[in-house]
Amino acid sequence: MERRPPGRAERLGLALERDGARCVWCGRGFGPLVRPTTEHLVPRVKGGPSWLENELPACARCNRERGHRAVVEWLEECERRGWHPDVPVLERALDALDAAIRVRGGQRRARAYLDGQRRRMRRRAA
Ligand SMILES: [Zn+2]
Repeated sequence: MERRPPGRAERLGLALERDGARCVWCGRGFGPLVRPTTEHLVPRVKGGPSWLENELPACARCNRERGHRAVVEWLEECERRGWHPDVPVLERALDALDAAIRVRGGQRRARAYLDGQRRRMRRRAA
């Protein structure tokens, strides 16, 4: 059988299954009033690929407000606002994208961004 890469809508469905039906940044559950959108861990403008490993479910508000802010910078802003970002999901996503890039190669800009963010995440945990 022919295997094609999953399309955009399909990837969002898979991300919801993998990460849960709530926004990774504010923790709000998705429903008729809070719609899921595709958030890029490494922003597209920073070289982030359109891979499931680079995509997380987030509400439209958080997706828009984060803009191009770095992962850890926006995570800490969410915490200051008293929201409940899903830190384990974010840590897992950083590791999984790093692993995917190792397998598939390329993505130089995304790799550099990712290295910096993984270091910052580890410093937070220490
Ligand atoms: Zn949100």
